[in-house]
Amino acid sequence: VSFAELGLNDWLVDSLRAMSIRAPSEIQSACIPPILAGRDVIGGAKTGSGKTAAFALPILQKLSEDPYGVFALVLTPTRELAFQIAEQFRVLGKSINVKESVVVGGLGTYSGVQKTPPSSPTCTNPIHTAHLPPTDMMKQALDLSRRPHIIIATPGRLRDHIQSSPNAVHLSRLRFLVLDEADRLLSSTFASDLETILSHVPSKRQTLLFTATMTESILALEHADNRPFVHRCN
Ligand code: AMP
Repeated sequence: VSFAELGLNDWLVDSLRAMSIRAPSEIQSACIPPILAGRDVIGGAKTGSGKTAAFALPILQKLSEDPYGVFALVLTPTRELAFQIAEQFRVLGKSINVKESVVVGGLGTYSGVQKTPPSSPTCTNPIHTAHLPPTDMMKQALDLSRRPHIIIATPGRLRDHIQSSPNAVHLSRLRFLVLDEADRLLSSTFASDLETILSHVPSKRQTLLFTATMTESILALEHADNRPFVHRCN
């Protein structure tokens, strides 16, 4: 199958072609149609399988059709993954001028709005290997108040923002929640952070969950929250 046959619009197929990506990977073929159809999905996929594009492409397509407020929240366990995901959204969503914001702890802050370069260990573009400025809660808070289309966050730092200024993080109209590396996110390390964050996102939303392994807590989620129609793609 082609990306067009999966239901993606021409502008996304063109963005992919510019990245020399011509054929969908397995996880993309399996997940993109149900996501475009509005279903919740659980995708079994490791890093390197093309899983980021499997959720970024349909989210960008829906965003282009109906843009408003913070459209998607992507949670991921590490800052490195957050920067890599943001970079894929930025590149794939260039022609619709997608505004993304990375909210991570430790060193480094990056926002597509402010064009501060991301750091990605797998990225060879010299502009992206520049030294990162130290993390600045204030700068991140300002980014969040500007209502980016996509927030890519590690759970601890996003929780800090929600708790320190609940009205500055606009999650009430969120359409997509993505849990990347969900097996790690659903471990006890992040449990209380996730609980706080989930209490601030609307229950009427699409949830996209990607995991390398199907743990007990993920299988339990399939039936939790009155979401009986989860589509498994792996
Ligand atoms: P990920 O699994 O999301 O970490 O993606 C790994 C890498 O594969 C990224 O650099 C993508 O740009 C690239 N990629 C994503 N989809 C495809 C595809 N269909 N064909 C070839 N490369 C891809």
